[in-house]
Amino acid sequence: MSVLEKMSSKEAIALEEKYGAQNYHPLPVVLSKGEGVFVWDLEGNKYYDFLSAYSAVNQGHCHPKIINALKVQAEKLTLTSRAFYNDMLGKYEKYVTEYFGFDKVLPMNTGAEAVETAIKLARKWGYEKKGIPTNQAKIIVCHNNFHGRTVTIISASNDPIATENFGPFTPGMVSIRYNDLNALKEALKDENVAAFLVEPIQGEAGVFVPDDNYISEAYKLCKSKNVLFIADEVQTGIARTGRLLATCGNCSCPDKCCSETPEVKPDILILGKALSGGVFPVSAVLADHGVMEVIRPGNHGSTFGGNPLACAVAIAALDVVKEEKLAENAFVLGNLFREEMQKLINQSDLISMVRGKGLLNAIVINDSEDSSTAWDICMAMKANGLLAKPTHGNIIRFAPPLVMTKDELLDCISIISKTIKEFEK
Ligand SMILES: *Cc1c(COP(=O)(O)O)cnc(C)c1O
Repeated sequence: MSVLEKMSSKEAIALEEKYGAQNYHPLPVVLSKGEGVFVWDLEGNKYYDFLSAYSAVNQGHCHPKIINALKVQAEKLTLTSRAFYNDMLGKYEKYVTEYFGFDKVLPMNTGAEAVETAIKLARKWGYEKKGIPTNQAKIIVCHNNFHGRTVTIISASNDPIATENFGPFTPGMVSIRYNDLNALKEALKDENVAAFLVEPIQGEAGVFVPDDNYISEAYKLCKSKNVLFIADEVQTGIARTGRLLATCGNCSCPDKCCSETPEVKPDILILGKALSGGVFPVSAVLADHGVMEVIRPGNHGSTFGGNPLACAVAIAALDVVKEEKLAENAFVLGNLFREEMQKLINQSDLISMVRGKGLLNAIVINDSEDSSTAWDICMAMKANGLLAKPTHGNIIRFAPPLVMTKDELLDCISIISKTIKEFEK
């Protein structure tokens, strides 16, 4: 069979099984086209995408403005490496730093690379600015975090599937309970702590939303101990949770959320995923001058980081977020979604809870963690035209593209309700 020949979903899956490393367990659907909130499989079936590539496609699939920026730039210049200047990087750096309210940006590609970068930056700052003795720097992280897949990052993980037989691990990670300010206070007593690395909402863990004051109090505790507060907003950032950033900061949030929630401006902000609207990997580490200045030529880098194509795509992707008021839309639709899910919970024993912020939500299935119920429900939702994926056994994450309309969301809610009700019988 020629690789260009048209094939069935079954054939496509068989190819992946035969030739690909089996490091994922996908839902058996083979997608070949996407537009806005919809994706189509090889047989032409249409689905609502309720995962958005783990929040990378906040702007919707193949957004015309982003794709146009990609095409125009691709025909001009794609990569120079950082051995030379290019005419897009400075423009992008000005744009992205002003957009999020930081002095400086360090451009990378994947989320994991940006987390690695933040860890390196925090350690170097710890030695050169805080005066931590050589090689003694510690980073505080949280149980059940997800920050990516490199050896250093999984050294901060307590997930046995992600860590087993990948040792030896990088030292200097101290893991505490998430949403536990006393544990943080205790861990901060160690003067060799350089940074606290945290997700404002733990996405992969099952959309675990901490107490309202957790992030702001944690931030204050870090400040009082001269410890950097690093926000991993790879998943929560860029309008997903109903505002530009889940930690807020200097951003231009809708609905005066900044006045409702005490303002937190992370010392280091990590972005990825939706920074390119899901077009290709673009990540960034943002910080003010006092932190970023410890990085000098030769200390760190990436061949592709800051490439002109990425710069053009990211500017367009961030433009779309503002122009189409995606944070506002996520805020309004998120409230509607949780209200409707709560109604469903009141009628159904199969779901025990809904949680989330904006359009990053999850329902918890009323069954044991190792049951196949959540998977079976996702299969049934697929048959009804909606794609979502279980995370951690009995939890289903719901994160549609933020360009969704209210009518589309209501349609999705009726698909979810119908499926859950079918299941009860
Ligand atoms: C997805 C994710 C990462 C890793 O990003 P990759 O692009 O997959 O390397 C890091 N942190 C969080 C919170 C994420 O959701």
